[in-house]
Amino acid sequence: SAKSNGRNCFEYFNQTIQLETERTAKLHYHLKNAIILNELELYFQPIVDPNTTEINKAEALLRWHHDGQFISPDEFIPIAEKSGLIVEIGEWVRAEVVKMISAVQSLNKSICFSINVSTIEFCTNELQNRFLQSFEKVSQSSGLSDFPYHLVTLEITESLMMNQQQAVYDLLALLRKRGVNISIDDFGTGYSSLSYLVNFPVDQIKIDKAFIQQIETDERHKALIEAIVSMSNSLDLSLVAEGVETQEQLDFIKQLKIPAVQGYYYYKPMPTDEFLAIISQQE
Ligand code: C2E
Ligand code: MG
Ligand code: MG
Ligand code: MG
Repeated sequence: SAKSNGRNCFEYFNQTIQLETERTAKLHYHLKNAIILNELELYFQPIVDPNTTEINKAEALLRWHHDGQFISPDEFIPIAEKSGLIVEIGEWVRAEVVKMISAVQSLNKSICFSINVSTIEFCTNELQNRFLQSFEKVSQSSGLSDFPYHLVTLEITESLMMNQQQAVYDLLALLRKRGVNISIDDFGTGYSSLSYLVNFPVDQIKIDKAFIQQIETDERHKALIEAIVSMSNSLDLSLVAEGVETQEQLDFIKQLKIPAVQGYYYYKPMPTDEFLAIISQQE
């Protein structure tokens, strides 16, 4: 229910300050100004069709340049989540992606962009409404008369669906009705029940890189990936394999006919200009 939903959220925000180390506290202090100081940048990592090597999707990934350093999203996203700053940061990310979609449209190309969404952004009714309203507003300000919602994929994690809340279901269903694709990121790492795959409006699964990267050392990971492929085929979900680095990993992915690959084997995440240059050269 909305009530228990709100309580979880409150407890989460409430854990903050006391538990923070000095570094975390310092980063939190500076993260508040990161948007205004223009320290955030979006990188884009191409997602490739392994049979044609064509790029038809890309994931937007945050970068924070602070004090002559680069701070990893694995370090600052949790800080942004605990402090609630993730809400504002998420809105900034979606505005940047909308700009990117316009830029790619003007090159006459079609690329579907994945955006990571934090569970915190959906954790109260108020935040859910804010998400929807700000996303619609920014889409409508794109300058494109009919915003191509089908070129947006929202990457959510299993934790968002753990409690199978009606409000989350309704929001995802509404976004999906507009044309937005819903993807489960880091699939298989969330310890949650699989039933949400049937009960929730979902289009895509991203196989976590932990599984892909262990196939060479542990055969059982191959069996696990095979099971994910067969399940997603039966449920008519599309698949992306994340973290593909080696030829052996790619060969295995191709053998299973997984249609989309994201990994250093093809491309690392890159700045906007570099990404647009590659896309514009593509047939
Ligand atoms: P994620 O959404 O699972 O993103 C994929 C991560 O895997 C990215 O790390 C990407 O650079 C990395 N990756 C891709 N291919 C390979 C590969 O072949 N080998 C290896 N070792 N790594 C690969 P990154 O960019 O450091 O982002 C880390 C996480 O931070 C993301 O994981 C996501 O959970 C979070 N994140 C990034 N940007 C955003 C954002 O805009 N909003 C939110 N809420 N979270 C974000
Ligand atoms: Mg992701
Ligand atoms: Mg992932
Ligand atoms: Mg991850």
